Amino acid sequence: MAIREDDSTPIDYLKERVETFVTERNWERYHNPKDIAIALSVEASELLDIFKWKDSLNDPTNIPTRTRNAIGDEMADVLIYLLSLSNVMSVDLTQATLRKMSKNARKYPKRSPRNW
Ligand SMILES: [Mg+2]
Repeated sequence: MAIREDDSTPIDYLKERVETFVTERNWERYHNPKDIAIALSVEASELLDIFKWKDSLNDPTNIPTRTRNAIGDEMADVLIYLLSLSNVMSVDLTQATLRKMSKNARKYPKRSPRNW
C-alpha cells in the first residue's frame, strides 16, 4: 500500500481504514458514541500531558524529534477516535467542518489591520 500524505488523503479513506480496523477486531460493541467521545477526550488529555509545564515546547521549530513523534502519535489517536465517532454517528466530517467554519466566520468576522 502506498504511503499517503495530508495533501492527498481523503477523509473517507481514513474513515474506511478506521472502520476496517474496528470491525476486524470485533470492537463494534465498544465503539458506541459515548465511549468513543470519552476515549477521544482521554487522547486529547494525553496530548496535553506532553505539553504540561514545558515552556520549551512553545516554539514549534524547537521541539526535539522524539517529542514531535510523541505529539504526532497523540494527534493521530485523537483523529482516529474522531473518525470512528463520525462513522458510528454517520456524520459527514467535511460537511460538518465547513458548516461550522461558516458559523465561526459569522461569529468572528474578518478584521481589518487597523482594528487590531
Ligand atoms: Mg494515546
